[in-house]
Amino acid sequence: MPELAIERPFALSSEDVAAALGCLPSEGLSSQEVLRRRKLHGPNSLRMRKAKSPLTILLHQFKSIIVWLLAAAATLAFLLGDLPESAAIVVVLILNGGIGFFTELRAARSMESLLRIAEVRTVVRRDGKIRRINARDVVPGDIVVLDAGDIVTADLRLVEASRMLADESVLTGESTPVEKSTETKAAEAEIGDRSNMVFRGTAITQGAGAGIAVATGMATEVGRISEMAQSAEGEMSPLEKRLDRLGYRLVWLTLGLAALTILAGVVRGHTVGAMIQTGIALAVAAVPEGLPVVATLCLARGMWRMAARNAIITRLSSVETLGATTLILTDKTGTLTENDMAVARYLLAGGSVPIEPGAMSVAEDDCLIAAVRIGALCNSADPGDGAEKERRGDPMEIALLSVADATGQPWRSLQECYPRVADHAFDPALKMMATVHEDGEQYLYAVKGAPESVIEVCETALHADGPHALDPVQRKEWLRRQSEAANDGLRLIALAMKQTGTPNDAPYSGLTLVALVCLLDPLREDVPAAVRASLDAGVHIVMLTGDHSATAAAIARDAGLGRGALRVIEGRELRGLSHETEDDSLRERILSADVFARVAPETKLILVRLFQDSGHVVAMTGDGVNDAPALKKADIGIAMGQRGTQVAQEAAEMVLRDDAFATIIAAMRQGRVIFDSIRKFVVYLMSCNVSEVLVVGIAVSGGLPPPLLPLQILFLNLVTDVFPAFALGLGRGDDGIMKRPPRAPKEPIVGQPEWLSIGLLGGIITVATLAAFGLALFWLQLPAGKAVTVAFVTLALAQLWNVFNVRSTQGGVFVNDVTSNVYVWAALALCVGLIGGALWVPSLAELLDLPHPGGSGLTLAVAASFGPLIAGQILMLLRVYPRRKVGERAQRTADKA
Ligand code: ADP
Ligand code: MG
Repeated sequence: MPELAIERPFALSSEDVAAALGCLPSEGLSSQEVLRRRKLHGPNSLRMRKAKSPLTILLHQFKSIIVWLLAAAATLAFLLGDLPESAAIVVVLILNGGIGFFTELRAARSMESLLRIAEVRTVVRRDGKIRRINARDVVPGDIVVLDAGDIVTADLRLVEASRMLADESVLTGESTPVEKSTETKAAEAEIGDRSNMVFRGTAITQGAGAGIAVATGMATEVGRISEMAQSAEGEMSPLEKRLDRLGYRLVWLTLGLAALTILAGVVRGHTVGAMIQTGIALAVAAVPEGLPVVATLCLARGMWRMAARNAIITRLSSVETLGATTLILTDKTGTLTENDMAVARYLLAGGSVPIEPGAMSVAEDDCLIAAVRIGALCNSADPGDGAEKERRGDPMEIALLSVADATGQPWRSLQECYPRVADHAFDPALKMMATVHEDGEQYLYAVKGAPESVIEVCETALHADGPHALDPVQRKEWLRRQSEAANDGLRLIALAMKQTGTPNDAPYSGLTLVALVCLLDPLREDVPAAVRASLDAGVHIVMLTGDHSATAAAIARDAGLGRGALRVIEGRELRGLSHETEDDSLRERILSADVFARVAPETKLILVRLFQDSGHVVAMTGDGVNDAPALKKADIGIAMGQRGTQVAQEAAEMVLRDDAFATIIAAMRQGRVIFDSIRKFVVYLMSCNVSEVLVVGIAVSGGLPPPLLPLQILFLNLVTDVFPAFALGLGRGDDGIMKRPPRAPKEPIVGQPEWLSIGLLGGIITVATLAAFGLALFWLQLPAGKAVTVAFVTLALAQLWNVFNVRSTQGGVFVNDVTSNVYVWAALALCVGLIGGALWVPSLAELLDLPHPGGSGLTLAVAASFGPLIAGQILMLLRVYPRRKVGERAQRTADKA
């Protein structure tokens, strides 16, 4: 079978397209046919998702300046005739490259599999059934079913379209959504005019329909725009960039220091050759080789931990932003609440009718029958086969279907009596939706929506003896009943109807109010604890909801939002608001509000900007198509994995697989842990490196023999730096991490407090090592070679113990985030073993030039190595380091919370 390709499908009728691609729109392809086509056409993916090959990663290792430095050192050692050293540097080089290679490979692989989790799913018709499949499995000829909020996953020729609008800005740059239909177009139509086609990567903003996949993968319009496919590749996160820059600065700094040491050594009478070797070894040792790679690994691991907690992050940079978040704008339904709705009661003109689950009988009250019927008819949930579990859609609508089943008006028979002829999808601005049904000779309009909106457009209300006119007093009374129920945290929907002779009437006028439905949507159990945790962490929470203010306030109170009096702002107060508003008192009120009720989607964007302008790092949740701009604007857009539309998920940086608020807090904690871990290993690594440079530099310029030989420096660097530093990077953080206010967003990884820590810790290790070296030489009267061994052991062990000096101040001296990190203990055990090997394995000891210093020398070294640990802990208890002041703005947030 040749590849299926079809020229200008928009200029053919949909039947011709179906025939050319060998498919039946009503049935879709058969599974066997799909397999055949999948083999022929390959996956429906753009090539940018191609995995990084191991070779690319290997080559990447040679881009590092460190590799060239090592190679130069090896060559130099070789030229100077020092073969063992030259070989040793080559070994270091290989090990270094190997570690870099494997770390990067792992990080890349775990990123790739994360991206697979986050892959878009799509609905197709196959074997006559509706299936949800991975977008990459779509083949030409597949019938793809579309709904508002979906991202289109292939180029489709539409065969069904009802009121469909598509946002094609990714392709055409035109941001107004275009209307779609199934009509055949002229052969010369430009891409923007091919209104019977929808294209991969564009979004359906309204309506529904289905289309035949005419192109998949690279054959699609987006696929052809190759630049687009390239641009999404492997961008570095800001954190990695900063680490990279830091790495470079360090390279120059150490090269400078090494040069100084060489100079000092030569002035003091050491030979130039020996000094150059020492200088090179120092430069090699002092450069933190794994810095960016370990950071990437650390971030990728953190992303995995978040994924395990149901938070999927697809952009590395978001991990760090999460840790700096100061404000969460959260919606209510489904995020704070279960979104598992049940009808509690109907408020009818004649009174309130409670609905007891399990104890329902066929309704007899005419008004109630009408209410239940309208609720089931004006419904966009997918009723499935009638079984409750089969149903998909808005839980509120499913609850309305369930009540209809239980009270003798099952959906199936309603559909037969009142076939649907038209519908007006839920409009978030009006907060209403309508459906139109045949009703004998007449047409029945079924309307439901937010009570204020519906009551406003009703002229009459249904009573037991028929409709009565609604006068202002009665309207007020209905609104009062609504508020009363809303105060209990119930969610309210008004139901209304009318009968006319035409299906094309304006739906929202001349209606008869039938009932208010009260639905119970309980708070998620874990929300109060999560809210408390977030307040403890200095992160403010504000609820943004389309629901009634009383309902919103009741839920907010249960969730524990606000302090004391809850500050609620109604959406209508914000109408016409701009983020540059001059009204300072309104701005002040907005910034200190806890709940925004009845907010329109456009207002969300303005609120995000207002909060950002006041210095907040804003995380915002959202699910609808209308939320996408605000999600994009927010520092962290959070979309709902279950409830959310694909458009919202595309716009977001993080997707919650379980839709739960508590997951945001868990992810936030991870974000902080990662930043903290990276900072810890940077401080650790650099304080160790500083000590190496200082020990040699000071001794040599002080006229002493070099306390460390080049090969020893290389060995030390490899052993002590790599393993403990990696282990620190894998830390799980301390308990106090969510008890502190968020870090300031611009705070550097290595700021003044970190430089201070690095200097102090590096300094005390230097002092201990030089002291041990001096004592060995002049007190124990050891020969220079053995004194070098004493210095080597002191420095090596002191560096190992130094991991405990970078613990967080929240923990105690013995129980803290470092001592509870098992990787650290494993790394220490391994390193002690390796140092032991260097002393007691004769060949290794000989290679490294480490004669055994005797019992007293060894005791001196071990004792001295504990000096820096003890001094470090004392300095920490005296609060000499780490001196980190909380950012001013972060402090303000903490005060407010
Ligand atoms: P929330 O923030 O609670 O998710 P929404 O913006 O989804 O609020 O809804 C706002 C209001 O619109 C709801 O309180 C409800 O009265 C009404 N509403 C929501 N969904 C529907 C629907 N499918 N049909 C009719 N009315 C709805
Ligand atoms: Mg909603």
